Amino acid sequence: MGAEVTVVERDVIGGAAHLWDCIPSKTMIATGGAISFSNRLDGMGLESQSSEVDVSGLTNRIESIKDKMRDNNTESQGVRILRGAGRFTGPNSLEVVGVDGTQTVEFDAALISTGSRPRVPEWCFPDGDRILTTRDCYPPKTFPESVTVVGSGVTGVEFVHMFSSFGAKVTLVVSRQQVLPGKDPEVAAVLEHEFMNRGVKLVMGARAEAIERSEAGDSVIVRCDDGRVIESSHAVLAIGSVPNTADIGLETTGVEVNKWGYVDINHHCVTNVDHIYAAGDISGKLPLSSVASIQGRKVAEHVMGLHTRNHRHLDYDKAASAIFTEPEIADVGLAEAEAFASGRKIRVTKVPFSSTAKAMINSDTRGFVKIISDPNTGEILGGSIVGRHAAELISVIAVAVTAGLTVTDLAESILVHPALSEALAEAAE
Ligand SMILES: Cc1cc2nc3c(=O)[nH]c(=O)nc-3n(C[C@H](O)[C@H](O)[C@H](O)COP(=O)(O)OP(=O)(O)OC[C@H]3O[C@@H](n4cnc5c(N)ncnc54)[C@H](O)[C@@H]3O)c2cc1C
Repeated sequence: MGAEVTVVERDVIGGAAHLWDCIPSKTMIATGGAISFSNRLDGMGLESQSSEVDVSGLTNRIESIKDKMRDNNTESQGVRILRGAGRFTGPNSLEVVGVDGTQTVEFDAALISTGSRPRVPEWCFPDGDRILTTRDCYPPKTFPESVTVVGSGVTGVEFVHMFSSFGAKVTLVVSRQQVLPGKDPEVAAVLEHEFMNRGVKLVMGARAEAIERSEAGDSVIVRCDDGRVIESSHAVLAIGSVPNTADIGLETTGVEVNKWGYVDINHHCVTNVDHIYAAGDISGKLPLSSVASIQGRKVAEHVMGLHTRNHRHLDYDKAASAIFTEPEIADVGLAEAEAFASGRKIRVTKVPFSSTAKAMINSDTRGFVKIISDPNTGEILGGSIVGRHAAELISVIAVAVTAGLTVTDLAESILVHPALSEALAEAAE
């Protein structure tokens, strides 16, 4: 749009999603998925095969995907890239300290998107060797023989799934009585059942309060607040993240952070200072790459004054999200429990994948589709999907929720047969 743009990056363009999070974790999960699939070949009239993970082959594959994804166009589009750590020195200036020395950048508008890092409590000292944060899991040096995952949110369950597909003995410490706290209990129940079938040990209703190396140093001990003690070769801490908003000179700009360290923003991603924007994990909205990326686009439009044309506010309540376990889990919009809590009348329809021909052909009938709609107007308000390709299928419900489509719109769409999406049409019907 013609603006003079500078990107300040101390590490790698592409950020955490590229370095440690989305791409590495999902590529490792895809390999784990291939192993589980080959273990299920019996059901397809073939012989099951056992597969060994080739750690260096897997690492090369991840690096080659990263290389292909790396956006080489940024610089060629005339964007100036400054390598180094940025720190604001005033409301219109920033200092960048890099290998080439210190440079000053003056700006009319700034976007802060410094991301977040794993939360590490005072009772745990990750050593990058056996006591790990999620960032220490990539690149994989070896795959653990046994691992205790502390934290049963989205990241925790994805790591449980990945390590168990690679054959590790996995224990999951769950602070409540349900994995994925806050998610639909029926959805969580499918995953718990799957974990137990795979031999994952669920330690429910327990909070870890210490993680330390054993005296011999060759294992890790996780102590829980109810006295339970778990020993494994490795432990992974997955208890959320904290925003990177300290030490970037925000105080010199007047930008305020809330008590958790996040920068509050309005619907244009503007902070309390008119010409400074924030996006991504530091905005305290949904910590997802997809959200960070669309926020960035909205910021560009606003800076250039394009927001007055066909602008639609970002509605974080309508963001689709997925959990890449097996089966996959995805949801969007209003959840059943949320509707009951607020007293809103809804209609819930649930169709198991086992009723579709495609699930039987795939030899994987796990899971279901759930659509939540308004009983008077038929408007689709939300939905959850558990099952194969849930992360792809949820897009249909996400579009319906954003566009205000009704169950009739979906039921009368002529979809493909045989396909898993037939369960969506059936739920809508
Ligand atoms: C294990 C894991 C898996 C995930 N998988 C998914 C997924 O499948 N899908 C999904 O949508 N989300 C996923 N996420 C979440 C996703 O990774 C984050 O929401 C996303 O990366 C946030 O983007 P961001 O731009 O806010 O921050 P980041 O991607 O962290 O980018 C911030 C950048 O700022 C740089 N930086 C920080 N401070 C400075 C400074 N002072 N000067 C210069 N540069 C600085 C950093 O080097 C970094 O490159 C996952 C998270 C984890 C932990």
